[in-house]
Amino acid sequence: MSYQYDLIAIGGGSGGVAAARRAAKHGAKAAVVEYDRLGGTCVNRGCVPKKVMWYGAHIAHTIRDASGYGFDVEQKSFDWNKLIVDRENYIRRLNGIYESNLERENVDYLPGHGSLIDKHTVKVGDNTYTADRIILAPGGTPVIPEIDGADLGITSDGFFELTELPEKVAVVGAGYIAVELAGMLHSLGSDVSLVIRKEHFLREFDEILSSTLTGIMHDEGLKVVNNTSLAKLASSDKGIAVTTTDGRDLGHFDQVIWAIGRRPLSAEMTPENAGVEVDSRGYIPTDKWQVTNVDNIFAIGDVTGRDQLTPVAIAAGRRLAERLYAGMTDRHLNYDNIASVVFSHPPIGAVGLTEVQAREKFGDTVKCYQATFTPMYHAFTPHPQKTAMKLVVVGEEERVVGIHLIGAGADEMLQGFAVAVKMGATKRDFDDTVAIHPTSSEELVTLV
Ligand SMILES: Cc1cc2nc3c(=O)[nH]c(=O)nc-3n(C[C@H](O)[C@H](O)[C@H](O)COP(=O)(O)OP(=O)(O)OC[C@H]3O[C@@H](n4cnc5c(N)ncnc54)[C@H](O)[C@@H]3O)c2cc1C
Repeated sequence: MSYQYDLIAIGGGSGGVAAARRAAKHGAKAAVVEYDRLGGTCVNRGCVPKKVMWYGAHIAHTIRDASGYGFDVEQKSFDWNKLIVDRENYIRRLNGIYESNLERENVDYLPGHGSLIDKHTVKVGDNTYTADRIILAPGGTPVIPEIDGADLGITSDGFFELTELPEKVAVVGAGYIAVELAGMLHSLGSDVSLVIRKEHFLREFDEILSSTLTGIMHDEGLKVVNNTSLAKLASSDKGIAVTTTDGRDLGHFDQVIWAIGRRPLSAEMTPENAGVEVDSRGYIPTDKWQVTNVDNIFAIGDVTGRDQLTPVAIAAGRRLAERLYAGMTDRHLNYDNIASVVFSHPPIGAVGLTEVQAREKFGDTVKCYQATFTPMYHAFTPHPQKTAMKLVVVGEEERVVGIHLIGAGADEMLQGFAVAVKMGATKRDFDDTVAIHPTSSEELVTLV
């Protein structure tokens, strides 16, 4: 049986594009189906625009800190619109680069909505295409709760469409996206309330990170409203009125941002037509080779529900293509020890097990080394922010199984240390590494 393509990827985001390009590099005839702008969530509504806004917020902090170093500067105004226009132009350029990369590498770009007709046939608009293998990489979309007036709120997608800085904002959610949006808006000048269902945010991270960030947010005047959920949003001439399930009236806001989670875009691809199983939450399970229950259909990226990060989707896609088309028969992504960063103010970086996870797995053989300090930069600033670090080690040889950082530079600090964790480094290896001075990261190799 011959097919029009060796491989079709549904979804032109991080995973789908990476897999198709790598397959084409190794000789496969590949195509990518995408109904929106190329580049997916990361480029258009995720990592990239988010990091631009984070840089803007970071500059606001730097201006605020400058007096501590003797500079007589003040932030007279902030032109939100200039930043947004420049950011969108930058993203358009990236969309163009994505398209020209596909063209240069002979990957066909099939614009339109992709769905499965059977295990070898994909429908794109009014056309159908056949393929030996199909990769499902549709990513996800933000969830909006089913409460009265929920549509008055926006999601992270809407945040990136705001044409002006909102004065007063409620960000609802406890995950990294909620924390990042709240931090950026606050730093840029909004009056922000972060509304969370339980006691703490970032609950999947080590406790040292959320407790340190909670303290910093408190000092900075960012309000955390905890142990509550929203019951209702209502429109009024003063803005959006927000009430909670425990009967509290939180007042009026110019924007309410839902950041309560994302759902996979699996159903829209009609996976049932090819017999592809989807779990109760809409995720598509795969084995370690990214194979679904149908042998020629694969799933990668956010739709699998595992570590929903861009480099994960890219790595899974590239490894899959190398296994299928480059003869690397054992190539697959190992999902252990994937490092991640939260672009809060200051940023957070984490890799490996939290202290709680390590104790569950290794019991009393777990030991932690930690430090909290004011980094030298903040010795002079009017609003010093603490840095905190924790190393989680296991066993007599003190193998490092977790690193948890919050503080200026933590985002850039972590990548190299993640290599050490991946390689099985011990506390002794850390101690034997001569420090770089004066830095914050030197604390990680001098912990006692
Ligand atoms: C606000 C925000 C901030 C983030 N920040 C970071 C970060 O800092 N670092 C990080 O690593 N990750 C970050 N992420 C997560 C990251 O964006 C995702 O993990 C990554 O994009 C997943 O890649 P993917 O290929 O699975 O899906 P996506 O990149 O979402 O790509 C899926 C593509 O498929 C298309 N599509 C869906 N269904 C169909 C269909 N039926 N037919 C045709 N096309 C379809 C979509 O339009 C989309 O373009 C962030 C996400 C958000 C929302």
